[in-house]
Amino acid sequence: MEAEPETGKKTQQADIIIVGGAYVGLCLAVAVKEACPQLAITVLDAGAAGAWQHDLRASAIAAAAVRMLDRLGLWQPVLPLSEPIREMIVTDSRLKDPVRPVFLTFSGDVEPHEAFAYMVENRHLNAALHKRAAELGVRVEAEAKAADFISEGGGVRVILHNGAVREGRLLIAADGARSAMREKAGIRIYRHAYNQVGIVCTVAHEKPHHGRAEEHFLPAGPFAVLPLKGNRSSLVWNETKEEAKRLLAADDLVFEAELERRFGRHLGHLRLEGGRAGFPFALMLARDFVRPRFALAGDSAHGIHPISGQGLNLGFRDAAALAEVLVEATRQGLDIGALSVLERYQAWRRFETFRMGVTTDILNRMFANDCAPLRAARDFGLGLVDRMPFLKRYFIKEAAGLIKGSPRLLLGQAL
Ligand SMILES: Cc1cc2nc3c(=O)[nH]c(=O)nc-3n(C[C@H](O)[C@H](O)[C@H](O)COP(=O)(O)OP(=O)(O)OC[C@H]3O[C@@H](n4cnc5c(N)ncnc54)[C@H](O)[C@@H]3O)c2cc1C
Repeated sequence: MEAEPETGKKTQQADIIIVGGAYVGLCLAVAVKEACPQLAITVLDAGAAGAWQHDLRASAIAAAAVRMLDRLGLWQPVLPLSEPIREMIVTDSRLKDPVRPVFLTFSGDVEPHEAFAYMVENRHLNAALHKRAAELGVRVEAEAKAADFISEGGGVRVILHNGAVREGRLLIAADGARSAMREKAGIRIYRHAYNQVGIVCTVAHEKPHHGRAEEHFLPAGPFAVLPLKGNRSSLVWNETKEEAKRLLAADDLVFEAELERRFGRHLGHLRLEGGRAGFPFALMLARDFVRPRFALAGDSAHGIHPISGQGLNLGFRDAAALAEVLVEATRQGLDIGALSVLERYQAWRRFETFRMGVTTDILNRMFANDCAPLRAARDFGLGLVDRMPFLKRYFIKEAAGLIKGSPRLLLGQAL
């Protein structure tokens, strides 16, 4: 540690400073530290210690990301708390329609005994990430909000809100969609806000779901029912901003009645478990992912509509690719903050991110729409896909993230 000349305070030194200690930031720290224990890694998070325990969301984690989490020792504690998605059905109807015809079904594992995705409550994932980071000696600081950074010479200085300074050779911003570090780096973004809010809650039901996920396309957008461990499901319920505001403020009886209108009675009596929360949706794509001594990862680089449950999976793919690039550079004795090193990461990730952002945007525009001819056309398309097993297999592999050119960790290989 060095003393700061003006204040006499100690300046914390690290090789890599990660701003944002949620899913992507911590996963990246674990991946790099496991392969290169000699690197000092500091993770700074603005939230209070343990604030992540209040995240009500659950995530569909694709098979490729599961392989990585397994390789990094993160999956073993999560597996008993996760639910494999064995089947998926897609319906398309209006709320008042008496029946909801099923237009598309997916079922089966991607490999024998390997589901194409698993549902995990975010708090369980976060607990595993924090535990593993601590075991490996990653320094994680809570209530450490980064306010600015200066890149100079061979290093980078991160200034916290309380004036404290952290120094490193590379700064990685994993500070979410409203990334302050991205803004400080002068990286421009494309952003389009949807007039949609996702209402998230957990319901307990009488009957088992048998690992079945349901995506009901309703006029306001998708109403997703995602299986959790036990007789429970996580809901992501799209509504317009105005309607979501009304529902989030409604008393429990009204909320539960509205919920049941959309959910139906096929799983028996429903009971809300815990609270409800609203998340506004937007498409956001950063024009660049890197600058000298600076890289974006996760939602700071891209925010997509959760219609296909791929936002975090994209972030995990960033973490896997960036970790591979940094570990190789370290082993070759290269400067991990050099633009030439970081550009390899950008080249690897930018196109896939753009492709996924555009695909989810088109899907959302097509399905969150009550126009009768469009409804007929999309239902015809869904029905067609349903009759083509090879196309369904292709979509399952895509959803599982098992695609060519993937980083090693996503193939379950060590760095
Ligand atoms: C309703 C909903 C459902 C979703 N479902 C799925 C799904 O099923 N599957 C899937 O793959 N994805 C899903 N996603 C997307 C997924 O949640 C995000 O992609 C994921 O949270 C991104 O993780 P992250 O670590 O990049 O950023 P975040 O989770 O946004 O974390 C950013 C972290 O940075 C910290 N931070 C912010 N600013 C600062 C600062 N200045 N200094 C220090 N720390 C800072 C914050 O405290 C936070 O801890 C869903 C999203 C929503 C809204």
